[in-house]
Amino acid sequence: MNWWVSNSSFCIWGEFIESLAEHNPELVCEWDYGRNTVGVMIKRPENVAWNSDEIVGWTCTKCFHRWEDSIKNRTKKGKGCPKCKKK
Ligand SMILES: [Zn+2]
Repeated sequence: MNWWVSNSSFCIWGEFIESLAEHNPELVCEWDYGRNTVGVMIKRPENVAWNSDEIVGWTCTKCFHRWEDSIKNRTKKGKGCPKCKKK
């Protein structure tokens, strides 16, 4: 696979892709590092595309609720914590 990873953005198949950390830095705080793992590797917001439809874990910074949603739902649709939304 022809790809490289930096702290902020990366290329896949020669296409430049902004990472989640680069495009939505505010969501990095809510990234659930404990849940977002691939085997023994920890998946990081620096290493995923901001518009990915991959389902990942999130932790709310306000109520500490943990839930799962796609990255795309959070960035493109602006969805937040389902618990805080209900209030
Ligand atoms: Zn919440």
